[in-house]
Amino acid sequence: MKTILVTGGAGYIGSHTVIRLINNGYRVIVADDLSTGSKEAVDKRAKFYECDIYNKKELSNILSNERIDGILHCAGKIVVAESIDNPLKYFENNVVGLKNVLDVLVDFNIKNIIFSSTASVYGNNAFNVKATEDTLTAPTNPYAESKLIGERMIMWTAKKHNLNYVIFRYFNVAGAMIDASNGLRTKNPTHLIPSINSVALGKKDKLEIFGDDYDTLDGTCIRDFIHVNDLAKAHQFGFDYLFKNGSSDIFNLGSEKGYSVKNVYYESVKLLKTDIPVVYSKRREGDPDCVLANISKVKEILHWEPEFNLEDIILSDFNWRKKLLCLN
Ligand code: UDP
Repeated sequence: MKTILVTGGAGYIGSHTVIRLINNGYRVIVADDLSTGSKEAVDKRAKFYECDIYNKKELSNILSNERIDGILHCAGKIVVAESIDNPLKYFENNVVGLKNVLDVLVDFNIKNIIFSSTASVYGNNAFNVKATEDTLTAPTNPYAESKLIGERMIMWTAKKHNLNYVIFRYFNVAGAMIDASNGLRTKNPTHLIPSINSVALGKKDKLEIFGDDYDTLDGTCIRDFIHVNDLAKAHQFGFDYLFKNGSSDIFNLGSEKGYSVKNVYYESVKLLKTDIPVVYSKRREGDPDCVLANISKVKEILHWEPEFNLEDIILSDFNWRKKLLCLN
């Protein structure tokens, strides 16, 4: 049985992936500082270490105790607006954090890593085209820049130390477990779908749509949404591939379907059959007009494709948020 260390395994994407990995025959160790993650999100079958990944000694202690075959590095900061306000915090978390992980990977001779990157590395180059992994990168904010630096750090380190890596560029991840057993735990979400659902549940007064003067059909930004469980499945396929000696590569994880912010809003109103107050305000800094994936490569090489659609994403997040309200 292979053992995977998941940094950030108490967070949203990490915790869903931990469940998927365990259900598919992996042993999982979670390292998380619980700064944004939550202990309750960690599958009880995983071994948990509360660990600051900026402290190399704490990370090394885990590696000294456990025999690890691969690392999934999910820990990191992910809010674009926050990254514009505090770029150095983002470089510290996302770049220095990864550097520590790579240091221990090399020190303990671990050969496999999967890295959570982002479609926002494409910036506006995915406008009017579906971005392939060869589309030129052009980050428009410090968050995206920090992830692109991370990708390059991995590539150079892999070359020198014979590591195998899979880099996943996530498009817009949302949704929750279909049985509402896990989901995004942030109380004041900033992402679109959880924000819409928070308004629908009366936890927020109104939805603010940031900008309706973009160069798109209805003037609002276009995004490609992917269910968190589809994303989790891709990580399992990624490790299966690496352990069968698959070669290092970068893959987009999206759905190839573009929805504008207005599309998502009206779809939510229709599905939830409730009034969702909305206001239009000015553009949010750093938002690219359109981000859309081409997923031919991941289909062909990892044999992965998404199972869930926009309706599943909106409804699963809504049901989870409703349950979260009852729990608190
Ligand atoms: N958005 C919005 N109102 C919100 C949250 C997001 O209009 O309350 C828009 C945002 O400007 C962007 C799209 O929804 O055009 C997706 O934003 P999100 O923060 O969900 O993800 P991002 O694409 O920034 O990673």
